[in-house]
Order: sequence, then structure tokens, then C-alpha cells
Amino acid sequence: VSVATASAGPTTSVAPLKKGTAEARTYHDDMKCILWTASDLASRISELGRQIAADYEGKAPLVLGVLKGSFMFYSDLVRAIEPCPRGLTMDFIRASSYGSGTESTGDVKLKTDLKKEKVAGRHVILVEDIVDTALTITTVIRYLQEECDVASVRTATLLDKHERRVINYKPEYVGFTCPNEFVVGYGLDFDEEYRSIPYIGVLKPECYAHLGI
Ligand code: 5GP
Repeated sequence: VSVATASAGPTTSVAPLKKGTAEARTYHDDMKCILWTASDLASRISELGRQIAADYEGKAPLVLGVLKGSFMFYSDLVRAIEPCPRGLTMDFIRASSYGSGTESTGDVKLKTDLKKEKVAGRHVILVEDIVDTALTITTVIRYLQEECDVASVRTATLLDKHERRVINYKPEYVGFTCPNEFVVGYGLDFDEEYRSIPYIGVLKPECYAHLGI
């Protein structure tokens, strides 16, 4: 697959893509609509950051990102926690439940190298991209409470798709309430694609029609 980028100068051998060909389609062409622009996300995240900073004043929170989908939200949110409480540390846990496509398998797998003695007694802020059925986040919370002895745990999720809950769970910090649509962008993927786009949009159904869903 040839790739054309703005930075690919005349000295590279990358062939320019022709407009109107299948190859020239971009991720933007696959969006049915944009729900939140980059600037919508930035202003909401700075509000969340200020709220978290006020709530955790004098505490030393451990900000724990739930990978992979939260990576972009995480990096913007930690910088928005202002003024930043002393002792704030950062770590990550990997959770996966989506095999492929747009439906969760419900079987949540966690991968982490967190050291129990470093997490015990900490005030944990979990950072998630989206809470949908809530199976993932409640699995992570159960792990932290039962295996790691944390002092407290709260969740900051960029999106809350509460219509699809399987478990009754309410995250403490929510960026936006998400309609019951499959969304991509700003870290959220479809089969590992679309994570890099700077806004959140709804994928056109024809993009996953081949999966029969
Ligand atoms: P839950 O366990 O709450 O059903 O789902 C949590 C995970 O499912 C999220 O971390 C995310 O990876 C994935 N997910 C749920 N809804 C969507 C969606 O609309 N778009 C994308 N890209 N991922 C989703």
C-alpha cells in the first residue's frame, strides 16, 4: 500500500495517490458524522482536569490508563490536571474484550505488570476511553480492590454509552454521554484502525458491512 503524506517530499519514492481512486480514500471519508471535534474534546478535558485536581488536592493519585483505547485521552487528561497534586504517578493496565469488529465478547482479559506493593493504599484514577456494558471497567476495579488493596478507585471516562449497560455502574468523571452508535477516533479503534484521527465520529455502516453486523 502506498502512502502519501504532506511530509513526503519530492526526494522520497512514495507514489502520489490519485484523487477519486479507492486508494485515495481517507479515514475522514469513512465517517457518517463527527460527534465531537478536537476542540470540543480539548475544552471538556480541561474542565475534567480542573475538577480532578480540585478533588485530589493533597492526595497523591495514581492515574491508571486502561489501554489501548484511552491513550490519547490519558495524555491530554494528565496534562489538564492543574494544579497537579504532588506525588501523582502514572501507569497503565491493558484490558481487552473486543475480539474484532464492533461487538464485545464479554470476556475481559487484563494484562499488567503493576507491582501490588506499589499500588496498595493508593488513590487510583482509572482512565478509560468509553464505558459501554461496563464489563471492562468493573473487571479492572474488582482486580484493584481485591488483588491490590487500593485506598480508593474512581473512573474518568471520556465517553459514557450508558444505554448498553450490562452491569449497573456509574463512572465518577464523564466527558460526554455517547449515543448508542459505534464510535471511532481519538484513540478508539475499529479493528486497530482509526485510532489516530483527532475527533470522535460514527463509522459509516458500510465500513463494517463485510462482517455481517
Ligand atoms: P465495555 O466493557 O464497557 O462494554 O467496553 C469497554 C471497551 O469496549 C472500551 O474500552 C472500548 O475499547 C470498547 N468499546 C465500547 N464501545 C465502543 C465504541 O463505540 N467504539 C469503539 N471503538 N470501542 C468501543
